Amino acid sequence: MLQVKHVSFGYSETKILKAIDFKVKAGENLAVIGESGSGKSTLLKLIYGEYDLNKGQIFWNDEEILGPKYNLVIGYDFMKYVSQEFDLMPFTSVEDNIGKYLSRFYPEEKEKRTAELIKVVELEAFAKTKVKLLSGGQKQRVAIARALAKEPEILLLDEPFSHIDNFKKQSLRRSVFKHLKENNIACIVATHDKNDVLGFADEMIVLHHSKIIAKNTPQHLYNNPELPLIASFFSEFNVIEPFGIVYAHQLKIVEQSDLKADVKASYFNGNSWLIEVDFNSESIFIENENEIQKNSTIYFKTEN
Ligand code: ADP
Ligand code: MG
Repeated sequence: MLQVKHVSFGYSETKILKAIDFKVKAGENLAVIGESGSGKSTLLKLIYGEYDLNKGQIFWNDEEILGPKYNLVIGYDFMKYVSQEFDLMPFTSVEDNIGKYLSRFYPEEKEKRTAELIKVVELEAFAKTKVKLLSGGQKQRVAIARALAKEPEILLLDEPFSHIDNFKKQSLRRSVFKHLKENNIACIVATHDKNDVLGFADEMIVLHHSKIIAKNTPQHLYNNPELPLIASFFSEFNVIEPFGIVYAHQLKIVEQSDLKADVKASYFNGNSWLIEVDFNSESIFIENENEIQKNSTIYFKTEN
């Protein structure tokens, strides 16, 4: 189990993280979300032991994670970290980049394990390709496979799918997170993409103004967002008195109601359209099956 106990940290006098407390059990998937600059990457780096804490302690089981002041070599065998800037060996093939970390294995076993990891990140067609010839997204996948090579007990992933195109993203996420669950590897995923979280994270924490402002399951936070910042992570939303935070899909256009608005614009959204309306001189967003002509008057109600 990872224990982050009352951690505070700043690169300078200004604290980036204050009084951070949470735990991650073996095999558990924790998502860390927050706006850009909220300290997600910093938190992962602290857990990895890249910096000395100002206050607090971090443990993996009984072992305290120590920063560079107390630890000459950064990193531990039981923990791997895939940073936002993955550094690979450019002039070496994909399989050699991964295999390099498997020197203690017998050749046959090493080959089998390398092939398995290449499959997890769906790079079978590029096994023999030099890394320097790969796209950003492909490199990111090699970095993930390499981090998994030594079977860590805990994996830290910093925006792991950010460079990967939409064609591949969903299937790759499923493949990587399934591999982690099957092998009981704990992971902490820093992300601003809800698709990295919904369906995969057991718990999520929300960082804001240096603090954890919410910690719960994705289902709970989705259904009870409490703050606009949390709702905005999941979906298009509105704040309408007296209802509070209401997602666009929780509003419905109806024949008649007390809530009247004028259509300003319609945006195609795939499954539906997002209709922007003027309601009491404020813009609100309503999901609707069809486009609605600009300047039409509509009525709407909240679901349930
Ligand atoms: P996130 O990953 O959530 O975008 P970061 O952890 O990268 O946020 O950054 C949090 C804050 O710390 C930002 O204000 C950023 O500018 C600052 N910061 C990040 N890395 C460093 C560094 N090496 N030195 C000084 N300040 C940094
Ligand atoms: Mg970051």
